[in-house]
Amino acid sequence: MGFELDGMGTLRRTHGCGVLRADHIGEEVVVAGWVHRRRDHGGVIFIDLRDREGLVQVVFKPEDAAQAHERAGSIRNEWVVLVRGRVDARSDDTVNAELATGAIEVTADEVRVLNTATPPPFPIEDPCDAAENVRLEHRVHDLRRPSMQHNLRLRHRLAQSARRTLGELGFSEIETPMLARSTPEGARDVLVPSRLQPGEFYALPQSPQIMKQLFMVAGFDRYFQIARCFRDEDGRADRQLEFTQIDLELSFCGVEDVLEVLEEVTARGCLEAGGLEVERPFQRIRYADAMARYGIDRPDTRISLELVDLADVFAHSGFRAFRAAVDAGGIVKCLPIPDAGALSRSEIDRLEGFVKKELGGKGLAWIRINADGGWQSPIVKFLSENEKEAIAERTGAGPGHLLFFQADEAARANAILARLRVDLGNQLGRHDGRAYDLLFVVDFPVFERDEAGGLTYVHQPFVAPVDEDIPLLWEDPEKVRGTHYDVVMNGVELGSGSLRNHRSDVQRRILEVMGYDEAAMEERFGFMLRALDAGAPPHGGFAFGFDRWVMVLCGADNLRDVVAFPKTQRGQDLLMGAPSPVSREQLEELSLRVIRPRKD
Ligand code: ASP
Repeated sequence: MGFELDGMGTLRRTHGCGVLRADHIGEEVVVAGWVHRRRDHGGVIFIDLRDREGLVQVVFKPEDAAQAHERAGSIRNEWVVLVRGRVDARSDDTVNAELATGAIEVTADEVRVLNTATPPPFPIEDPCDAAENVRLEHRVHDLRRPSMQHNLRLRHRLAQSARRTLGELGFSEIETPMLARSTPEGARDVLVPSRLQPGEFYALPQSPQIMKQLFMVAGFDRYFQIARCFRDEDGRADRQLEFTQIDLELSFCGVEDVLEVLEEVTARGCLEAGGLEVERPFQRIRYADAMARYGIDRPDTRISLELVDLADVFAHSGFRAFRAAVDAGGIVKCLPIPDAGALSRSEIDRLEGFVKKELGGKGLAWIRINADGGWQSPIVKFLSENEKEAIAERTGAGPGHLLFFQADEAARANAILARLRVDLGNQLGRHDGRAYDLLFVVDFPVFERDEAGGLTYVHQPFVAPVDEDIPLLWEDPEKVRGTHYDVVMNGVELGSGSLRNHRSDVQRRILEVMGYDEAAMEERFGFMLRALDAGAPPHGGFAFGFDRWVMVLCGADNLRDVVAFPKTQRGQDLLMGAPSPVSREQLEELSLRVIRPRKD
């Protein structure tokens, strides 16, 4: 572009731009960064210079430094410059209270242009109103924004904190292979073709689960890793194709030992990365209670609304819609909301549309209790006096209450009411105002029914049952209680873990209940079962979804705001242009041929 660039020469940066304060007044400084904005006030030129610490105003006065002033005249946004000058107090009328450096400015003696820059695709500021795909394509500019700098530095602090805490607690950081074999988390694998073994594939790990258990058998006692994991699931705001776990495992432990470690890592992480002092011990809630009261296994208990079970009330009801759900093995549940006068009839209709269209519900039955105590509702004519009495008593409904109902399969009814509970709770001021909500969810079952009616694992197949339930594995597996636990923060699951089966007979039986025969067991888990037989100690562990935890601490609502180079919902990296086709030669080397997807 024909612009003569300067070098840094012997000038060394003395301060970050954003760190200068009134204490520095009178000091000679050298600052460097990106030109955030330039203002030419006919004579005096101002530049806001930005680095990771923030902005500082630099002023170029023609009478004091003619050469610097002239050079500043040609500088454009996002150019990289170095300024030597003096920190001066701003005059009272120009102090900017909004800016951390707003009490001072740097009066330039010299400016050097270290690099020019093409015009940015969008202003480098928060909030950014560029479309997300534009942000992802121009990620370098996007990452320059203060919020992204903040998020990724918080991420760094959280990683450091976890490393430090786990190190102090006696955990060794050990890496596990990326090119691995399919692991049992149940998602689709990301596969990598092998050149040396034509026709065979590695699977990128969905988690280091098996490897970390092998570390315990091998006697490392306490392991952790900040591990990359890969699950080829369809993208959602809280899922990425590749993600990071703080993965850990320990030996000779019971559930309480693991929870103690988790509490320490979580509390220190929240404080050291997010400045959030959390109360200990964490609340505990049983899985069954969470489902009953909140309809979800990761409740945000700051919202002071709870669900009420009414299945028994409608077991013999004349109201067909409700009774049919109970007859079919489903549930009838109610979300009572006090003081819900603000929710208009048209909003209720809109909610019903949302429940049907977005949440797959059959409908949204409701009852409003008027100020005079009268019941207003499209369903009230179907209810008997006894049923009305039972509803009123169980839900505590009185004037001003709005009751929402779901009568459906348990999973769907709970999911819908859980969602309404949070949305309406926030909208109608039922949030108790606590800055955070942190809890352990415990006492999950080992198995649940899958869609085909068989038994499958709730978490993963290595979860150990509680000791006294081991005989039930042979007698009544569905009743077996597991040792699984989750950490939940603000309604987001930060992570999961459990004690593991260290006895191979128990592990085999669990696989058998899930429908594995001997051959399938051997094929998928043979090496693992043999390792258990090699003298596996009792062990258990956990994995934090690191990205999610960062997201919660940042107050972000999208994982892509806490990952440096994330993928779109369609699994694309718009910056690098990945995935991309490869050459015929590369395919041939891998003994692969591409079957082009049909365009339709
Ligand atoms: N491997 C498990 C997961 O990724 C976590 C654990 O149980 O340690 O969900």
